[in-house]
Amino acid sequence: MTPLERDIRTIVDTEGPMTVSEYMELCLAHPQHGYYVTRDPFGAAGDFVTAPEVSQMFGELLGAWAAAVWRQMGSPARVNLIELGPGRGTLMADALRAARALPEFHAAVAVHLVEISPVLRALQEKALASAGVPIEWHPGIEEIADGPTIAIANEFVDALPISQFVKNHDGWHVRTVGIADDKLSFMAAPDPMLGPVADTTPPGTILERRDDRAMTLLSRRIARQGGAALIVDYGHAKSAFGDTLQAVRGHTFTRPLENPGESDLTAQVDFAAIVGWAQRQGAATQGPVAQGEFLRRLGIEQRAARLKNNATPQQAADIDAALARLTATDQMGELFKVLAITHPKLGPLPGFG
Ligand code: SAH
Repeated sequence: MTPLERDIRTIVDTEGPMTVSEYMELCLAHPQHGYYVTRDPFGAAGDFVTAPEVSQMFGELLGAWAAAVWRQMGSPARVNLIELGPGRGTLMADALRAARALPEFHAAVAVHLVEISPVLRALQEKALASAGVPIEWHPGIEEIADGPTIAIANEFVDALPISQFVKNHDGWHVRTVGIADDKLSFMAAPDPMLGPVADTTPPGTILERRDDRAMTLLSRRIARQGGAALIVDYGHAKSAFGDTLQAVRGHTFTRPLENPGESDLTAQVDFAAIVGWAQRQGAATQGPVAQGEFLRRLGIEQRAARLKNNATPQQAADIDAALARLTATDQMGELFKVLAITHPKLGPLPGFG
């Protein structure tokens, strides 16, 4: 039994079943045993691989995107370049290297990294040691100084906790995690939160709602202080019913209630929900567009061709494989989507048509 499972059992014993949202939060962010708090999960030897770890092209193109957006904002003398959940710091290091092509932008940038993991923060410090820009770390968005903003969040939102609700014969119930037959088990809160309603969903249907706090704060900042945020993640463009909670360990799927704290626990991003939260704060949105389409519009094919000019045959094959991985519809090209949250006065941004 993992140390976190022991803690969770104690909580359930004393307080009763916990919500799926509380469970997810503990699994990922428990201050001692949380998945992200205790490890570097990325890469071949880790649990999963993200786009910036697939190829430097990803961060470089997003750096060029940020520079173009800065110009569109009127080239402000200072701009907060915020990254939510920077992982190993690879994306930001690649983006800042590409941004040197526009020295006025590079000189205007103050980087703000939002990170809860001390292990990953140490890796980010190393990756960005020679970035040549001021960098601050924050536990949350609300700590970041005011000012025009360009924000990037790659595979951040999928790790924010979701609540689940399950339809039973007498209505919709909050889905919980309790103990049955001495095992962690999904359950439903005994009282329906909503009595019988005239929806036609069959019993057993699951509905998910994500904690909107981070996206609401980000949207409010952009609506009030200007700029744009790029949200890249796996998910769906339209809201839908269904259980999308998934656990990944060592590049294979495991069960979400097995070995809590030892596997990455995420759920699909509902982009329509983010659009709603952003608009409620007075921000506009562009997209979502499929990641493959977005990267092609930013010129990933030309970038790959240029990299291949000075490459060995093996390196050229690796570049082609990375290009396919990031853009092909049967890989990350279609399931991953890109949404921009923007100040309403900012026009169409690169990559969005
Ligand atoms: N963007 C990186 C890492 C994605 S993994 C990449 O693409 O490689 C998710 C990242 O978000 C990790 O850095 C994790 O520590 C961080 N994270 C997860 N939940 C968080 C939260 N609630 N607040 C801040 N950071 C969080």
